[in-house]
Amino acid sequence: MGSEGEEDELLSKALEALLRVPLCDRCLGRLFANLGRGLSNAERGRSIKILLSMVLHSRAKAGDEEARSCILKLAKNACYPFTELARSYSRHENKETGERCAPCAICNNVLDRFISEAALIAAQKLGSLESKSFVVGVKSGSDIELREQNLAMDLGIEHWESVSRELKREVGKRIQLLTGIQPDFKHYDAVVLLDLDSLSVNVQPQPLYILGNYVKLGRFISQMEWVGEGGVKYYELSIEESCRKVTRIYNAEELKLHAAGREDADARMLGSGRPLVLELKVPRRRAVNLKVAEVEASTPPWVIIKLSSYVPYRVVQEIKERTSPKVYRVIAYSPLGLTKDDLNTLERKFKDIEIRQRTPRRVLRRRADIERVRRVYAVKGRTLGKYTCEILIHCEGGLYVKELVHGDEGRTSPSFSEVLGKELHVLYLDVLTYCSDKVTGNC
Ligand SMILES: [Zn+2]
Repeated sequence: MGSEGEEDELLSKALEALLRVPLCDRCLGRLFANLGRGLSNAERGRSIKILLSMVLHSRAKAGDEEARSCILKLAKNACYPFTELARSYSRHENKETGERCAPCAICNNVLDRFISEAALIAAQKLGSLESKSFVVGVKSGSDIELREQNLAMDLGIEHWESVSRELKREVGKRIQLLTGIQPDFKHYDAVVLLDLDSLSVNVQPQPLYILGNYVKLGRFISQMEWVGEGGVKYYELSIEESCRKVTRIYNAEELKLHAAGREDADARMLGSGRPLVLELKVPRRRAVNLKVAEVEASTPPWVIIKLSSYVPYRVVQEIKERTSPKVYRVIAYSPLGLTKDDLNTLERKFKDIEIRQRTPRRVLRRRADIERVRRVYAVKGRTLGKYTCEILIHCEGGLYVKELVHGDEGRTSPSFSEVLGKELHVLYLDVLTYCSDKVTGNC
């Protein structure tokens, strides 16, 4: 071939490749995938072989012996249409050329079948997993991939298409055709993972994230299951265990609870509740009615779960970072007694005020000793008896409310106890409202 020009360059490279190793249409086509548009690699490979056979045939006819021997060699390495030419020679000369079609040196002729079978299996699995979107992945480092890389490098071909890329596209297209489900590279319900070494296909359902709220109507219920030494549970019930019951209806392997902060186990969480995201790992069902799921996740009368929508993963991060203002109700007790004047003093003093808090002594074992500043917007109180009162506190998220009341031996300042000069104890604590507007603190 030898002369200049793009077409000769293409044909001479293809000839060089095919003289070196047997290649199926698809694997040959991939090596020249940057040439031609709207062609599959199989069409591209077959076109190159046809064109090459015509060029060589024409030369052989003109008496070029080298071209003739190339045709015989390519009957083995390129198969159709060289096999047809070789057969015509042997018929003509009444002898066997001895060249038989050899399996592809890159894929061993498995790719065409694998693409069809993998798409079929994946389509069935996606259907049974109730997936509405998917993405195709190919396990990297397969023998086919390595053989392809080596050949492209040996031939000095720079812009070939990798087998993984071709498979992702071809299998994806076929799945779409079979199921009507669209591939979606950003938000996908399942990953179809192809393994070219074992020629297997694995469909992995992605986690499901469900946004909702929890309301906790009982006390001594922790947010997460809390197991101490010897497997003894600190609290009989937790929000996490209550929610975990939904794994059954999603046929999921595991549940992870993500919540926007937490209240103490002995505090109730009332009002519309605290935002949460339920993460279901390896769910084999996805199309579950949330009304059914929230009934399953609740443990009446103590834990009520409301589920509003399926959300993307980023919402987990968003709710975890959320520190929204809240309204608390405290029932407090002072052995020195409490008067209406005391409560008026608190209402006057704790109006849009900054509170400095060092990490409470009760959590020092788990958390670093730091100082934080949180704002109290307003408080409102009333006496319940000679020694007890009810105080509503509207404050910034992240404030330790019990410490605001009793002062934590001066680690929280100012505190109700410090301002009144009286020992104060928190008897009951409830979160009444979880406010949505974190800037103004309006509920
Ligand atoms: Zn091949």
